[in-house]
Amino acid sequence: MKKHNFSAGPCILPQEVFQKASQAVLNLDDSGLSILEISHRSKAFVEIMEKAQDLALEHLKLPKEEYQILFLQGGASMQFIMSAFNLMQTKAAYLDTGSWSAKAIKEAKLLGEVNVLASSKDKNYNYIPKNFQVPTDVDYFHCTSNNTIFGTQIKDFPKANVPVVCDMSSDIFSREIDFSYFDVIYAGAQKNMGPAGATLVAVKKSCLGKVDRKIPSMLDYQVHCGKDSMFNTPPVFPVYVSMLTLEWLKEQGGVKAIEAKNKMKADAMYLEIDRNPLFTGFAEKEDRSDMNATFNLKDEALKSKFESLLVEAGVNGLNGHRSVGGYRASMYNALPFESVQVVIEAMQELEKNA
Ligand code: PMP
Repeated sequence: MKKHNFSAGPCILPQEVFQKASQAVLNLDDSGLSILEISHRSKAFVEIMEKAQDLALEHLKLPKEEYQILFLQGGASMQFIMSAFNLMQTKAAYLDTGSWSAKAIKEAKLLGEVNVLASSKDKNYNYIPKNFQVPTDVDYFHCTSNNTIFGTQIKDFPKANVPVVCDMSSDIFSREIDFSYFDVIYAGAQKNMGPAGATLVAVKKSCLGKVDRKIPSMLDYQVHCGKDSMFNTPPVFPVYVSMLTLEWLKEQGGVKAIEAKNKMKADAMYLEIDRNPLFTGFAEKEDRSDMNATFNLKDEALKSKFESLLVEAGVNGLNGHRSVGGYRASMYNALPFESVQVVIEAMQELEKNA
């Protein structure tokens, strides 16, 4: 039986994508070759890369003349240092909204002065700080749009007159925002885009080339842009599966349509968390993420009973991150509404029998 998969990442992808990807492992588009054995310089793969790049730009509504899409390796974690390498001259401003932001800050400090504008660490990152201003004397402002571990999401991005860098790993392609506000967007593929192994970077070309330091080739956005994301062997299979997922997203009606579905899932989930007297939400209501809903049992004695109900219902990956505990329902684009209903039913069953 197919499980209801609430994993935080790697996570659920569309079933159709799994089918097409497995077919391509055996025989890519009737070529007599597997996607795993073709050259990254072959016509077939160059077309796949171009299509993935075009679809990413289309979904983000970013103009091709200004932005370049890269599929790199090293995960979002590599982007913590790579973005700083390319944009930090002397000083940058960071918003600290969770463990991933903190890791980005740690890396940036290797290259310059970091001004942490605000932090929600005082409350174990259960909210998004709001009363701060982005200074004008910094090289860039960095934020994390969705905090996967804590279940918070930035709804309104602050005014910024400097380049903005955003770690969008866990909510890219899930909601419509003005993506042109950002100069560098990066995201590990393994949530809304594809399997682990590729990292999407959307970079505004005009913000590059402004730092004095020498940048190692593999960390230099300009080098990767100059080779259209083919400076070295790209992660061929993850790029292919990302292309399939971006195609699937288009068939679903694009980001706008998926956002409406994501809202329905999140609303239903939070409604039950707030209604059910046995549970309590972790994140502040106004900052709740539509991607990752974090919640706890009020009485830990019910833990094994609840978890048995989840197992019986075929639910996978609902356990919270160790730094928050409790539960985390990751409701990425490919998760069907029915899976959310299954968890809600388990919560209601627990209430009935508690
Ligand atoms: N940023 C965020 C918001 C994440 O959720 C994650 C991983 N879950 C990362 C960064 C790190 O990504 P990676 O493992 O691809 O380096």
